[in-house]
Amino acid sequence: MSRQYYIAGNWKMHKTKESAAALAKALVAGLQDGKHKYLVAPSFTLLETVAGIVKGSAIRLGAQNMAPEEQGAHTGEVSVLQLQELGVQTVILGHSERRHIYHEDDSLINKKVRLALKQGLEVILCVGELLEEREAGKAEKVCEEQVRAGLAEVSTADLNNVVIAYEPVWAIGTGKTATPEDADAIHASIRSVIGRLYSPQEAAAIIIQYGGSVKPDNVAALMAKENVDGALVGGASLKPESFIPIAKF
Ligand code: PEP
Repeated sequence: MSRQYYIAGNWKMHKTKESAAALAKALVAGLQDGKHKYLVAPSFTLLETVAGIVKGSAIRLGAQNMAPEEQGAHTGEVSVLQLQELGVQTVILGHSERRHIYHEDDSLINKKVRLALKQGLEVILCVGELLEEREAGKAEKVCEEQVRAGLAEVSTADLNNVVIAYEPVWAIGTGKTATPEDADAIHASIRSVIGRLYSPQEAAAIIIQYGGSVKPDNVAALMAKENVDGALVGGASLKPESFIPIAKF
């Protein structure tokens, strides 16, 4: 089964309107080919600006998080309905910065996943182990637990709208990358978890991105691995000179 490569840029808490618009315009111009599937995920306050630029282009619009409830008394949160109104198609959930800095646990992440899917958004569910977990030989187990908990009560039909991003925490923003072999091994194990939870067909179809210091000079070797279907890119997504070559690898 052939899966489409999916390259996503997580802009994190970077950019203001002017610089976000300039980056989005450069990416729209540089990624007209539609060779792979592309996405950018700016901060909430930049979504409307970037939506107006990527609309009708090859680039999807993503958000970096959302509230676990649809509406109500949740000061400081942003609702799935508000995101959809701005043209958001995808939401990144369970990013390691949400898990480790803001203490989001698997059950909160699962609540968000189910709400996003119920509302028809695509979900990029991030999973990944800490350095000490890798050193203790627990990387596969940690990822399996995060996948199982994140997808609890997600139906087979809704799974079609889920992408998994394997992001070893020790590789995010550190310049350290998992070797293509290590990434492929975890991706294969995540794929087999999907096979056990759903079916071999779902396991073969699900897109699994790798994230963690992906750069123009290491992307091709990672993407050459059988189970690596794309990238979730942080730092290198902030400049067209680095994101375009990654996206077009
Ligand atoms: C990320 O935050 O999802 C990420 C992978 O960051 P970086 O590419 O900077 O390591």
